[in-house]
Amino acid sequence: MRTGEFSKEQLRQIDVKVSKFVKVTLNLVGPASAASNHYLYGASDADCLGLPCLEDELDGILVDSAFKLLTSRDPHVRRIAWSNLADQIQAWTASLDSRPDAKPAQVEAFLSDRGRSNLSFTWSAARNASRRLAVFWSCPEWGFISATFQEKTPQPADRRMLQRSIKTIMRSERALKLQKYPSQGIAMECIPASKWGNQFIRTGENIRFCDWSFIHKACLNLCNLNALRLSSPEEEVDKSCRRCGHHTENLPHVVSSCRPLFHLRTKQYDAVLDRLIKARRRSFRILGRNHDVDGSGLRPDLVLVQGDTDILIDVPDENRLTAFAYTRRDKATKYVHVTNNLQRTFSNVSNEAIIVGALGSWDRANDKVLRKFVNKG
Ligand SMILES: [Zn+2]
Repeated sequence: MRTGEFSKEQLRQIDVKVSKFVKVTLNLVGPASAASNHYLYGASDADCLGLPCLEDELDGILVDSAFKLLTSRDPHVRRIAWSNLADQIQAWTASLDSRPDAKPAQVEAFLSDRGRSNLSFTWSAARNASRRLAVFWSCPEWGFISATFQEKTPQPADRRMLQRSIKTIMRSERALKLQKYPSQGIAMECIPASKWGNQFIRTGENIRFCDWSFIHKACLNLCNLNALRLSSPEEEVDKSCRRCGHHTENLPHVVSSCRPLFHLRTKQYDAVLDRLIKARRRSFRILGRNHDVDGSGLRPDLVLVQGDTDILIDVPDENRLTAFAYTRRDKATKYVHVTNNLQRTFSNVSNEAIIVGALGSWDRANDKVLRKFVNKG
């Protein structure tokens, strides 16, 4: 790839074959979609898979190769590279109607692909890649060069950073595009909010095979639900829930509010509570679990006590990032009377929420709450 021996089309064919195999592994079978490609090739720190897309990365590699040759630490290699570049520019300028005036300006114009050329030579791959990526070259004087991609300009001392920057930015752009999709981006907006949201992709921990075959489809809202069926002018399709008759069978309804499926939601809620109880410091005893602890009739999910400290915890679920803060505030308001009543017995009472999304999103604010009653590590 560094020598430009493979065309984008050849690399695209390899990408298609690899992605087909990976999608079967993720149970993302069906027609190819931009969303599932973004999920595969998007940045892993945004909880996409971070697979290398050869077609995407070819341009970055070609630009990087030219940059590394022209800034090589070996003076012999650097001299040959600049000399070869000078020859190519001479041939190129001879083919132009108007010539740039100064030599450094010729280098910038040539590598940034400003101007037309019918020539084909060694540096043309880097020029074409620079045009596609919008990489701009700067040559303040002969022998000194820098390349700028999206306002990032690695210095010759950081030669390795150019390709890394291009790759990182391109993968982040894919993840961002996915998050902006009105349908597929909903869960993908929440999951990267915390490094724990999608940790199972890397570690394989806390997940079963049946969950694995569901979760990737669910994250991309590609499950076979009635709300996703398309109506035609001739036929209005039924989008109602096949279990409870709710008017729209969409993913938020199925995972959060479909009554016949409540028992599954309860299982998840119980599993979260079990984990919190298991992880608590042993000095905390359980005053109540889903129990009225003050006679108010309200039943907080968990109340822990240690000496004169009391922690009241509720475990709501949310699937939109913007709703996390609202939900936390709502829960604090709901239990304010319970907090006041407990303050008659305990001097240090806190009213908290642990928010866990149905598809695994984890509110970062949970970490601060956990530190109050869970051992580190
Ligand atoms: Zn339903």
